Amino acid sequence: MRIIFFLLVLFTTTLVTAQSVKKIHSKAVLVDTHNDVLSSGVLDGIDISKRVKEGHSDLDRWKEGGVDVQFFSVWTGEKARNKEGFFQDAKQEIDSLNILALKNPFRMTLARNYREVKKGIRQGKLVALIGVEGGHMIENDLGKLEELYQQDMRYMTLTWNNSTSWASSAMDETLHADSLKQKGLTDFGKKVVKRMNELGIIVDLSHTGEQTFYDALGVTTKPVLLSHSSVWNICPVFRNVKDDQIKAVAKNGGVICINFYSGFISREYDQLQKLLLGRKDSLQEALISQALPQDEKDRLVMQFNKYYDSAMYASRPALSQLVDHIDYIVKLVGDDYAGIGSDYDGVGSLPVGLEDVTTYPKITEELLRRGYSKKSINKILGGNVLRVMKANFK
Ligand SMILES: [Zn+2]
Repeated sequence: MRIIFFLLVLFTTTLVTAQSVKKIHSKAVLVDTHNDVLSSGVLDGIDISKRVKEGHSDLDRWKEGGVDVQFFSVWTGEKARNKEGFFQDAKQEIDSLNILALKNPFRMTLARNYREVKKGIRQGKLVALIGVEGGHMIENDLGKLEELYQQDMRYMTLTWNNSTSWASSAMDETLHADSLKQKGLTDFGKKVVKRMNELGIIVDLSHTGEQTFYDALGVTTKPVLLSHSSVWNICPVFRNVKDDQIKAVAKNGGVICINFYSGFISREYDQLQKLLLGRKDSLQEALISQALPQDEKDRLVMQFNKYYDSAMYASRPALSQLVDHIDYIVKLVGDDYAGIGSDYDGVGSLPVGLEDVTTYPKITEELLRRGYSKKSINKILGGNVLRVMKANFK
């Protein structure tokens, strides 16, 4: 009898928790500041208006995950897709989002200012915003910065992994320091930041080197965003931010949105990856001098790749390790400076349980389990980013 009573209490508690997760999560405004589905799927012709098997995101799944506002990343790498260059790439990608919004007027809306963001949320639509990832897209031209603003760009990441002639990236400042020609922001780079402030474009400092990061904070008059970066002290990789940087963002009133990539969440995952990639290099090098038929060499490399994939899959971090990054920022500077910047459709590995955009409620559940108040959860899921948008947008 006692056992039945205990089970009943346990069942009721679980039920209440599940209900409260659902209630708190659906009432909260969830803002994700980074998703790469335009460059990784939509441009290839994948129609995310309907539920798709490929990738992490589509309109149905965003709804299921309780997402209210999604920044769509406009990205092109060091080499432009179009022969006309990066700026043309950016416009093409922006067009692909416009087409998606036009096809789905009752389910999503592209917002250009804070009022439109709030209106879209009230209407229960997915509010889409445009974030351009990489200052190389403006091709050293303030006129093109302004043109992208006219085409609804509302944040710009000053660099991607590649530096521009006016801003150095985290990758170059840390991994290619010897060949780096210029560190931090040049005078032109400072003009870019000032112009972004004037126009109402949020300055995004994810991917920037530390020097660029501090130079930009010295110039900006508005709160900044880190659209997809995690905590260096938990996982010390070049893309994550150090304690002093987190404190500087808090002082500026900005927000750091946690990137979900396994290699930025877990130090062990990152270290194993480096080790195995080193092993792969050694294997390939050894095979060059071996007198084996080419198809046998190919088979050995394929066999290694299979082993690599399964070893990395088995080493994915737990969901709680991702929440540790949020927790770390909250404990260091308070609950006003952390947010969600998944990088869905831009990463090859995610923590267990966070496989696609339907899974955000699990973060809410973990925060509740750790004793976070509803007020704190609302800030972390979206309130903090809304504050930064309001302070920047015209
Ligand atoms: Zn990125």
